[in-house]
Amino acid sequence: MGLLALVVKRWVPSIVAIPKPDETSRAFAIRAVAINGWPTFLGFYTRIGLNGRMLRDTRDSERMSEAFGIPAKEFDRFPDVWDKSTVVLVSERFGRRFIDLEQRRVCHHCVQEHGWSPLEWELKFITTCGRHGPLVSKCTCGKPLTWGDRHLLVCNSCAAPLAKSELPPAGTMNASAFQGYCLGRLGRGARVEVPLLDALELASVVDLAEALGALLDIGFANKVPGNASHEQRACWRDAGYLALAEPETFDLVNLAEEYRLKTGTVCPKRPADILGFFSDAKPLYDRGNELLVGLLLEKLAHGLGYPVHDLWVSDFVSIEWCAAAGRMPIPAYISALQEAGLRDKCMTYRDYFFVPVDIHWEVTHLNEQ
Ligand SMILES: [Zn+2]
Ligand SMILES: [Zn+2]
Repeated sequence: MGLLALVVKRWVPSIVAIPKPDETSRAFAIRAVAINGWPTFLGFYTRIGLNGRMLRDTRDSERMSEAFGIPAKEFDRFPDVWDKSTVVLVSERFGRRFIDLEQRRVCHHCVQEHGWSPLEWELKFITTCGRHGPLVSKCTCGKPLTWGDRHLLVCNSCAAPLAKSELPPAGTMNASAFQGYCLGRLGRGARVEVPLLDALELASVVDLAEALGALLDIGFANKVPGNASHEQRACWRDAGYLALAEPETFDLVNLAEEYRLKTGTVCPKRPADILGFFSDAKPLYDRGNELLVGLLLEKLAHGLGYPVHDLWVSDFVSIEWCAAAGRMPIPAYISALQEAGLRDKCMTYRDYFFVPVDIHWEVTHLNEQ
């Protein structure tokens, strides 16, 4: 009986690791392996009963708690919940393209100081540590850091953790307002209120900021290159975020001017192109909310010098809308069209009468004079 008890007794790691409040399950796993001095990650996991898998769900947390001999509640508060292709961090859901399933990124100064890896380093759009500089994704031997490593600062090819002196020095940092906003949303920093963005999921905010930043930088009708560098994208996100956080600081006049130069018209048939609504910057129209669309249209109207209603959905507007917008009865509006010699440019379909957006502008402009 005594012998049997000895055989089935589960192996217990010698040093108990307890998750930090903002530590993800996989970051915790590497730390637990490292402090127990195990040469391989998977061996450690097999030994505590996880069959070589990553720590993924609450059942695994129970195994962990059993293995370490401490209460399960210590393991049921990881801030990450993994699905096949998404992860929910705190309460924000991120698709696969926002997270790195293979490669890890760390600030080695923070790891050396505090000994653990906080949840924001899981996200590709968090590229720097606000205190020390760019996050590092490679070991000093040149091999990438992965989620299978046995130590937070060392890849599996290296013999032992490196001394601080062998690691690159901390850089000087300009704090990124965009990253500050994201950290606030994730409960990892002071919350910054931006009404335009607060109603959106954080993943959408990232897309929007990058799209607007690129539009302001590259300009109208120039495709965002698919191979834009991580650094470039980070710059666009910063610029786009600042524009959305402080809308009075940016304008679209230059974009509108560029449109005029390229198309030779002051009355674009497709004003939507200027914003890249339907081509390059999809997030600008399908991830935004009414506040954002309103803001962009207002900026665009200012840039073009004529009123923009919902022109981005159509080249033509109905006579009913035109008359109401011009504060004229419909017959008076039609007379104004005829007097200006613009009646022939309008379109009829069955009982409907449509006015091209640029013609509507000319009529109301003439009428105001
Ligand atoms: Zn740091
Ligand atoms: Zn290495």
